[in-house]
Amino acid sequence: MPTFVHTEKCDGCTGRDVAACAYICPTDLMALDTGRMKAFNQEPEQCWECQCCVKACPRQAIEVRAYQDVVPMGGATIPLRTDQAIVWTIKFRDGEVKRFEFPVRTTPVGSIDPYADKPAPGSLDDERLFTEAGQSLPTI
Ligand code: SF4
Ligand code: SF4
Repeated sequence: MPTFVHTEKCDGCTGRDVAACAYICPTDLMALDTGRMKAFNQEPEQCWECQCCVKACPRQAIEVRAYQDVVPMGGATIPLRTDQAIVWTIKFRDGEVKRFEFPVRTTPVGSIDPYADKPAPGSLDDERLFTEAGQSLPTI
């Protein structure tokens, strides 16, 4: 079941370079109505419930209506992503609410240089990947 937007919470990511949900959706489903400055899922039947947009929305304006075999009618699973953790709020059908918090990283945000110990890019004519620099090509 697809995402839907609580329009009273969505501010269209005003003041940001892009609408976070439209930027993050791997299948380009989330779009921004620039007239109303409200986001919407422009192709709901294609949504695979990956929850990326839900976690990225700074205003918690997006919700996934999960399949009934995972979340029975009346329940909800709501993620809240911060720099260091993700918190899942589980609402049961009887009204009970539980929260689970999981750390998502062990280092400060922005502290990792993924290319720090990698060689500089080589020639585009070289068949080797840049991580294979120095290795000889296999002979056929
Ligand atoms: Fe796109 Fe995933 Fe959000 Fe669906 S749940 S709209 S696929 S980001
Ligand atoms: Fe609206 Fe949230 Fe999308 Fe920003 S990320 S446009 S606040 S739904």
